[in-house]
Amino acid sequence: MRKRFIAGNWKMHKTKEESLAYMQEFRQYIQGAKDVDIVLAVPFTLLETIKKEIENTGIGVAAQNIFYEEQGAFTGEVSAAMAKDFADYVIIGHSERRKYFNETNEIVNKKIKAAIGKGLKVIFCLGETQDERNQGKTKQVAETQLREGLAGLTIDNMKSIIIAYEPVWAIGTGNTATPEQAEEVHAFLREILKPVFNDQVAQETRIIYGGSVNPENASAILQKENIDGCLPGGASLDPQKLANIIKSQ
Ligand code: PEP
Repeated sequence: MRKRFIAGNWKMHKTKEESLAYMQEFRQYIQGAKDVDIVLAVPFTLLETIKKEIENTGIGVAAQNIFYEEQGAFTGEVSAAMAKDFADYVIIGHSERRKYFNETNEIVNKKIKAAIGKGLKVIFCLGETQDERNQGKTKQVAETQLREGLAGLTIDNMKSIIIAYEPVWAIGTGNTATPEQAEEVHAFLREILKPVFNDQVAQETRIIYGGSVNPENASAILQKENIDGCLPGGASLDPQKLANIIKSQ
């Protein structure tokens, strides 16, 4: 039985003051939520604040990126070890990083290895663009991103990976994938994990969905057999909306 996993991705939003106001409400709203891993993915500037805010709540905190080098002359970058001072998780391979910061599957793979090497758990994002879907390449793209992103990882490493299927056309557009469209890709990704790792890894790895998830559509998505949680972006900026998604049956 895979435990449900819900992570809110704040992206580049919220000052320290705004984040404190959010947490005050969020803690109230999620009371009673059970059988779910809850994670907040916040900007680097808020990691320390949120880490303190979630103490003894069971909530996890995630960075939204790291660089793969250990240290050095990489102005503006943050290493895995630096993120690990505050974070339990890190998002890697988000389509916004692939698009705006030219992150390739090779870079994503290096970042995943660096993160796991320092004890971070990884929310590994992949998904096709609208053009790729229109051309019938959804599964081909997902398979390539999965295989190349996870290249060289061991079966043991996979305990630290949560896969997030995030079709690019559904992110921030309000144009969410139907539960059936998402389930089809999730089931496919799980099948690919079998030959790459083994049946147990395929069975136990959590695969979550992201792309315009909100309190109204979360329940239908989360009902699907191979969808183990979700990664809301926009909706997670509102503590009540995120809590309602978390409490979706
Ligand atoms: C995301 O941030 O990964 C995301 C899916 O955003 P949104 O929910 O706003 O589409």
